[in-house]
Amino acid sequence: MGMITEIQRFSLKDGPGIRSTVFFKGCNASCRWCHNPETLSLDSELLIYPERCAGCGACVGFDRARAGRGLPPPREELSWESAALCFSGALQAAGAEMNLSQVLDQLEQDKDYYLASGGGVTLSGGELMMQAGFAAEILRACREKGIAAAIETNLAYDYALLEGLLPCLDLVMADIKALDEGRHRAFTGIGNGVIRENAARLAKTGLPYIIRSPVIPGFNDNRADIKAIAAFVRGLGGNLLYYELLGFNPLGDSKYRALGRENPYGGARLLDDGAMEALAAAAAETGIPVRRG
Ligand code: SF4
Repeated sequence: MGMITEIQRFSLKDGPGIRSTVFFKGCNASCRWCHNPETLSLDSELLIYPERCAGCGACVGFDRARAGRGLPPPREELSWESAALCFSGALQAAGAEMNLSQVLDQLEQDKDYYLASGGGVTLSGGELMMQAGFAAEILRACREKGIAAAIETNLAYDYALLEGLLPCLDLVMADIKALDEGRHRAFTGIGNGVIRENAARLAKTGLPYIIRSPVIPGFNDNRADIKAIAAFVRGLGGNLLYYELLGFNPLGDSKYRALGRENPYGGARLLDDGAMEALAAAAAETGIPVRRG
């Protein structure tokens, strides 16, 4: 069994071809800019979207006053299980326990599309290594069924966890967010020493891999930082497919509100296309293939 936030079908962003992406719940980091805050905790959580409330009262029993105003009950009167009672979409549960066959039932539906497009399955999160045992079960089953598999990971854990999954993997996509240890820790909650070591060990395996950097305003959105990361990536060698720059994603704002939490990066400015292009050009000066995601 594992705690899964979502299985997204027909994804074109989480690796090559058409993919199904399994979002694991729980993360060992706490990046300030996280745009999937509902994946951070290992526990199920309730998202509340008041603007969608029909005021029916089904979640806590009919309430005439609220029915007139179209407001959901206060958060403290609800639990994540209340979402099953709401048919307007005002209450949504993030995270559900799923067993292997439930996950595989969904993944196998699109097997023909994976094969035709060079795609497959991607395990993402959160950080999938928080549930490494369940991840291994899914990957082994994919391998047995001839489905290509990739992971999106932060590499911030004991290398033995990754090593155990490698025989069932066709691709690893990993983040390098900053080289400076102190700044990395301040903005993500974790140090980057183990990440750098694991990236080097991964590269030595010969498995295809992609390194990515989310470009974050006020954190690493400058030529010096991005070029330094690109130079580090170049030094890794191995079977690097490319280095990818990901634009800051501001879409987490509504999810923070729905979880009743403050968004640490609320109101942050977006980098314009020209700025992202200039950073990609700086990274390419190191001689590695660079893409923008
Ligand atoms: S939150 Fe959903 S179930 Fe509760 S009153 Fe609003 S629409 Fe009805």
